[in-house]
Amino acid sequence: MFQLCDQSLDVPALKKEIENPQSGACVIFEGWVRNHNEGRSVDALAYEGYAELCQTEAENIMAEAASRYQIEKGICCHRVGHLEIGELAVWLGVTARHRGTAFEACRYIIDQIKLRLPIWKKEYYSDGHAEWVNCRECAKHGHSHTQVHFNEEKTFNSYYKRQMLLPQVGLAGQQQLRNAKVMVVGAGGLGSAVLPYLAGAGVGLIGICDHDEVQLSNLHRQTLYTYEDQPLSKAELAAERLRKVNPMIEVAAWKERVVADNVNRLVEGNDLIIDCTDNYATKYLLHDAAWLKGIPVVFSGLYQWEGQLAVFHPEDKGKGCMRCLWPEIPDPFSMGTCAQVGVMGVVAGSMGTLQALEAVKLLLGLEVTGKLVLQDFLAGERHAFDRIRRVSCPLCGDNPNITEIKESNYLPNQTKEPWQLSEKEAADSKLNLKRVDIREEFEIDEPLCCETVHIPFSEMMSNPDRLSSEQNYLFVSPDGIKCGMLVRSLREKGMENVYSLL
Ligand SMILES: [Zn+2]
Repeated sequence: MFQLCDQSLDVPALKKEIENPQSGACVIFEGWVRNHNEGRSVDALAYEGYAELCQTEAENIMAEAASRYQIEKGICCHRVGHLEIGELAVWLGVTARHRGTAFEACRYIIDQIKLRLPIWKKEYYSDGHAEWVNCRECAKHGHSHTQVHFNEEKTFNSYYKRQMLLPQVGLAGQQQLRNAKVMVVGAGGLGSAVLPYLAGAGVGLIGICDHDEVQLSNLHRQTLYTYEDQPLSKAELAAERLRKVNPMIEVAAWKERVVADNVNRLVEGNDLIIDCTDNYATKYLLHDAAWLKGIPVVFSGLYQWEGQLAVFHPEDKGKGCMRCLWPEIPDPFSMGTCAQVGVMGVVAGSMGTLQALEAVKLLLGLEVTGKLVLQDFLAGERHAFDRIRRVSCPLCGDNPNITEIKESNYLPNQTKEPWQLSEKEAADSKLNLKRVDIREEFEIDEPLCCETVHIPFSEMMSNPDRLSSEQNYLFVSPDGIKCGMLVRSLREKGMENVYSLL
């Protein structure tokens, strides 16, 4: 609960409101009016705030704290109006089952309230002068507190000094970055590198779209998050982190999956899209939607120790689009994602950093790569391939058949392969199938059924001779795509006796 009050705060009454028998801890923060600021002697203060905006934003903050820290109760009251030295300006009380969460939640709420609420103060000095502090512009223009507070010239110039010294940037370039709007889709391994660099570079509006929550298996490469962030929203956590990296920029979080229905809305109005997804269908959807709207996409894809990088720019038609390179969404069994085939964390970070670099160059009007860059980090090699528009391209060719976004173009291939069997088909078949669990050792957390043998995926890929040619096999795993990848690969080597469970 949050309140703006123009009267002295009644602390005992506030404290009574947060009392509850489930809580083992109560942390209270009090902010007082002090008698000095930046070397000047202060006699009194006046606070003003946009009541409606304060209320909405404060309730958001309280809800965030409730979901992050599992607090039992939280109340915050902020004074407005005239205050004398020593008076209570803000009171915040948080109760929780344990003291750790109560301390953390209290700290989080007060920091966010100071950062995000449109409240500003006028200081009355002992020398008779009075001044709106930090937030003068807020009062004049009604801009959001954080943005205007930091847009003061001095902070701007100091923050970006090292970057503005570059002849390619300067003040004009920095302002160009401030006016830029970029949407980053995917706040995972690539996004973890892209996002802080965009924020640091001063991209004025950064959108972050990711439907997912932080999981343990993300942390080795998704450096934006901590162990304690599980299972919170990546988009929201990333946005919060970026606001701390650079309070002068605006950051918007979209906790949604990119689908045909929302892609145009998400892409619209941006100067640039950065594709940090790990899903082929989404990559095509995003790319096509952006291309049709004339918006460039900075693309990257990861595969184990390798990364690809390209900038698809509709204004640079001669270089073609992504579909000129790869016309159709790949068959899921031909290429695995990071979840199936693994990825080295640093590879994601390195490729994300390169994406951020191309993005910043593009926003500054500098030349970006027109090639398809392939980095092999294991071999330490980099290859760059020329790209050229194909006249037969389904998107940018002479007779394109993709002229708008249709859901049916991005659905996974539903065609059933003859070697994919349902449980019933497997049981009814005369193949006398031997079940093989293909999970890796570390993926198995319960005992295997006695009729199932265990040969890990990695072992079969490197040593297919483990299988007898006299026997038919059925591969099983919770990840059906991985089974399909293995069957496809072995059948290409001439082994017709392998099947996968649908
Ligand atoms: Zn094309």
